[in-house]
Amino acid sequence: MIDLRPYISTTNGKAFAVLGLGRSGLTAACALAQSGADVWAWDDNAEGRAKAADAGLKLVDLGNCDWTAVQSLVMSPGIPLTHPVPHQVALAAQTAGVEVICEVELLYRAYPDAIFVGITGTNGKSTTTSLIAHILSQAGRPVAVGGNLGTPALELPLLGSDGVYVLEMSSYQLDLLSQLRFDVALLLNFSPDHLDRHGDMAGYIKAKLHIFDRQRKDDTAIIGMDDPDSRRIFDQINALGSCKAIPISGNTRLAEGVFAARGQLIDDCFARKEAILDLLNIERLPGDHNHQNAAAAFACCRSLNLTNDVILAGMQSFPGLAHRQQLVAQQGNIRYINDSKATNADAAARAIGSYENIYWIAGGRAKDGGINSLKPLFSRIRKAYLIGECAEDFAQQIGDDLPYTQCQTLDRAVVQATKDARQDNLENAVVLLSPACASWDQYRSFEIRGDHFGECVQKLISGNCSEQSDMTSGSEAS
Ligand code: ADP
Repeated sequence: MIDLRPYISTTNGKAFAVLGLGRSGLTAACALAQSGADVWAWDDNAEGRAKAADAGLKLVDLGNCDWTAVQSLVMSPGIPLTHPVPHQVALAAQTAGVEVICEVELLYRAYPDAIFVGITGTNGKSTTTSLIAHILSQAGRPVAVGGNLGTPALELPLLGSDGVYVLEMSSYQLDLLSQLRFDVALLLNFSPDHLDRHGDMAGYIKAKLHIFDRQRKDDTAIIGMDDPDSRRIFDQINALGSCKAIPISGNTRLAEGVFAARGQLIDDCFARKEAILDLLNIERLPGDHNHQNAAAAFACCRSLNLTNDVILAGMQSFPGLAHRQQLVAQQGNIRYINDSKATNADAAARAIGSYENIYWIAGGRAKDGGINSLKPLFSRIRKAYLIGECAEDFAQQIGDDLPYTQCQTLDRAVVQATKDARQDNLENAVVLLSPACASWDQYRSFEIRGDHFGECVQKLISGNCSEQSDMTSGSEAS
């Protein structure tokens, strides 16, 4: 756990209120308490409060406390700050003029001289974060990876002087920063997501833009050019000139920057239009979207003074991430791909765009806009297998454009998709779980959904699975 004494010793002795006692909140409360701060811990949920009490923390009902005795409210990013309605504790703190921050901000305040890399965007954050961390660690740099991805910031190790904290940052976390300055800040892309929490697209973009706050001349802003909102932001940041702005792309030749064109990674930023790497040979980074992630990681690692050779070696040995276009099995000509992390249509589009002859398993808890935007990709799909609470809605959106079957559950979908794929016997068939939906209607997380997919596939391949029949087919289903 991170020692926060370097920061706590500079504060005024007032209390730190901590709201939300899940893993990151509990870690923050314990790190603060162990560093000598007066901590008032609270969670609306009795289970969270019990855990805090077990950890020896002082519980104070923040819905009814004296805010004049508090210097900061440390809030879990999952708790609404503004939308759909602010949590009443956040509102009370703000009304009393108390700052509302998250645990990542505390890490920075204790160790402002460490190197901080922040990665945000609608899609590709985890892949790019892990890729950068992998390259840095292969290069022998002390590195810690966390934030929105896996390990909470205050559970990370303390790093030496050239150590780098590589932090995936959600829009919720970015809303809760006030001093953190990223040495390298990456904004990959924008598509509508989490609009319930930010009001509208403008609110969502505004939250993401906090990644560039306080950057100075020596700092770097790396910005994707593959969607109009991000391009506009690049133009703004570049025109401001307060930091070095590097444009990147996964599929378009840029006038300058780092980009992939037809799978070739080209550096026209640190060198003059130098072809660096044939990304088509990097199996763990398939598709233009991953080429965008690779371009971003290259620009970031060059900004941190790594050489081309070291970066390329790191890209080649990148093991990839589970639940993102992960090959979980192959039997004959059928590959099974787990893309459970595709929780919105834009992410699913990337996976669908990477294959042909797809038997597509989709559905769950739908996001705004559903799957209408995927229609131009339907020619790649042989048939859809719909699961979860939005199955009926998705069936209506698909209409006559694609054969589909209502399967309700993932195990049935795997069985039916395999049956059809075997019958069609096409070359390079892909049974693809890329749901374009959150998992929460049937699973606790996208990871559990993806693991379940893998289990269903293994069961079926090893012959332990009976075929089930009570499914309803779409009008065009064969
Ligand atoms: P995030 O952490 O932002 O959710 P991930 O790296 O976990 O992103 O990838 C989630 C899904 O988004 C992947 O399964 C893939 O389909 C898609 N994806 C990955 N990188 C990109 C990108 N640069 N642009 C668009 N979609 C992407």
